[in-house]
Amino acid sequence: MKVSKHFLVTGGAGFLGSHLCEKLLDQGHEVLCVDNFYTGQKDNIIKLMDNPYFETMRHDITFPLYVETDNIFNLACPASPIHYQFDPVQTTKTSVHGAINMLGLAKRVKAKIFQASTSEVYGDPECHPQPEGYWGNVNPVGLRACYDEGKRCAETLFFDYHRQHGLKIKVARIFNTYGPKMALNDGRVVSNFIIQSLQNQPITIYGDGSQTRSFCYVDDLIDAFIKTMESADEFTGPVNLGNPKEFSIRELAETIIDMTGSSSKLEFKPLPENDPCQRRPDISLARDVLKWEPSTPLEQGLKPTIAYFDKILSNR
Ligand code: NAD
Ligand code: UDP
Ligand code: UDP
Repeated sequence: MKVSKHFLVTGGAGFLGSHLCEKLLDQGHEVLCVDNFYTGQKDNIIKLMDNPYFETMRHDITFPLYVETDNIFNLACPASPIHYQFDPVQTTKTSVHGAINMLGLAKRVKAKIFQASTSEVYGDPECHPQPEGYWGNVNPVGLRACYDEGKRCAETLFFDYHRQHGLKIKVARIFNTYGPKMALNDGRVVSNFIIQSLQNQPITIYGDGSQTRSFCYVDDLIDAFIKTMESADEFTGPVNLGNPKEFSIRELAETIIDMTGSSSKLEFKPLPENDPCQRRPDISLARDVLKWEPSTPLEQGLKPTIAYFDKILSNR
């Protein structure tokens, strides 16, 4: 008989969390999804709810949580700049108090714990592409700091619980990821551009569109999550997870306009404060230790993502 494990996924109703819950259930594991539904949605997990091995709990991880589990994926945190800046104090609390609670839980039940960290720990990087050894360039008092510094402090807590209490930790620095199940109002660039293109609305480019990002398709990233969790106990990370192919925001807009056959025009808006100029992961460590690299080129991943938004918009 297959031995299944129990997983707690915080932020399990969000974009990445819901894909992860589905994958873990497919692998025959039991999953407890904990979410306060701040940016997550029931629609993302509705089709999992008939599965007797799936449980969901409305809970805010800034408060203590007493449950039993073998493995924790800590994903709870709004990820889109408009959402994490809406209530910045809550964002920092989620990253910091949330991490303390989940680490306290992991310590009590002796669970392995994974932290969804971010490329934002590198801030507006002066080193390109970014390897894990780069310490970053973050403005600690800017509008993005609630997220960037919150996630940096969470990494500190993970490594101190590891050193001080011997916890088994995995810290993954995730670079921009996209795919189906992103919320319509998510506000991040891929979903904004697709929705605008499908509606033939102006494409809102912040700044001149020369800033770069590297976009990873969600299925590739979830494979990397599983490989990271399954890696040897000595491997703690931090490990960069993302697609190393870099695009300017303007190129992304043009690709999406082409693929949707849209008549949208580009509309240039002011660049938000501290918006990083360039971002591309150095994934040598993931290639080497996890034997992982993404396999989905941008246009291939955009196809199902465009189809997903097209369906949602037509059902409205
Ligand atoms: P998302 O906003 O879709 O999902 C976050 C989930 O966390 C939501 O379901 C939300 O309701 C929940 N949540 C927020 N605060 C909570 C709290 N205090 N208690 C319980 N639940 C809470 O975002 P996502 O893209 O799925 O991101 C998931 C994780 O991955 C986040 O930690 C994010 O920082 C990290 N990450 C994502 C990306 C990306 O490109 N998607 C990049 C870097 C890091
Ligand atoms: N905690 C939790 N669930 C548990 C165990 C602990 O939410 O199963 C929280 C608890 O609120 C505590 C935090 O995790 O404040 C940190 O726990 P730890 O044992 O590290 O510290 P302490 O209890 O000494 O503050
Ligand atoms: N961006 C944009 N138009 C939008 C949304 C975002 O030009 O409608 C830009 C944003 O300024 C940033 C990049 O696209 O330079 C990626 O933004 P996103 O919010 O997706 O994630 P970030 O990597 O900044 O956290």
